[in-house]
Amino acid sequence: MQILRTAADLRIALRGAESVGFVPTMGALHEGHCSLVKQAKAESKIVVLSIFVNPTQFGPNEDLAKYPRPFERDCSCAEAAGVDFLFAPEVDDIYPPNFSTSVSVKGVSESLCGSTRPGHFDGVATVVARLFGLVQPTHAYFGLKDVQQCMVLQRMVTDLALPVELKFCPTVRESDGLALSSRNQYLSSKERERAPLLYKALQMVAEAVVRGERDVASLEQLGITKIAEDSAFRLQYFEIRSLPDLRKISAIADRSESFYSGSFNAEYVAVCAVAAYLGETRLIDNILLASQ
Ligand code: AMP
Repeated sequence: MQILRTAADLRIALRGAESVGFVPTMGALHEGHCSLVKQAKAESKIVVLSIFVNPTQFGPNEDLAKYPRPFERDCSCAEAAGVDFLFAPEVDDIYPPNFSTSVSVKGVSESLCGSTRPGHFDGVATVVARLFGLVQPTHAYFGLKDVQQCMVLQRMVTDLALPVELKFCPTVRESDGLALSSRNQYLSSKERERAPLLYKALQMVAEAVVRGERDVASLEQLGITKIAEDSAFRLQYFEIRSLPDLRKISAIADRSESFYSGSFNAEYVAVCAVAAYLGETRLIDNILLASQ
């Protein structure tokens, strides 16, 4: 594995590459990131993983300064997972002094995390667009753990006709259901024991859908009530939205508009998404819902 520190070195390394699978990350790598690398490895000749803690996607009171940056460990993880090139640029290489562009995807970015983290998805879309320009991947891999990010980026790629195919990969979880996240290390041991409640609430909703419940308000209430069992959680949202547009819906539809990701054999019509604070740590998770 080669470590590349500048955009210029990256271009030289990738000159002539035909099929490039790209996994953008903010580092503090875990099995979730590795699963993206593994899928990329299976589908592309060359796998590039970037590590860049993107300042523009953090709000003023968020965790940019304390975001974990275990670079040596990340290098070992990336190499073990099969990364060919690890691109770890400095902020100036991604945002040079005269950088003046912002990519803003309307609609799909405005609900859920978009309303609780203003400007977050502009930061994400802008950095991913720039990284796509630098890496010029044929395929790029994202985790459905961040389902809204997936939908925002798919909208961007479609609207701007960017020559890259996005692949969305399933959420990797701990054995008790907690979705892996670089931020889980902020949790105290007591909080860590409580954290799986979020996925339990999502599962309850998915099971109710399987049993035939279609009313969104009832389904949302089911999950909200479950999370309220533990007062340590401060819920930001627990919402069911359509896929891929993340519009408000009143009932789980019968596949009039469905979202299909190549990684799945099923078709999903909606997503149930949650964000909650547990102590100082903000956790997000979601579950995809199929109507049959
Ligand atoms: P991050 O470093 O948090 O920006 O995440 C980089 C990529 O890894 C994003 O596409 C995430 O959606 C994905 N990712 C993060 N956690 C997981 C997980 N538990 N399972 C699958 N993918 C994940």
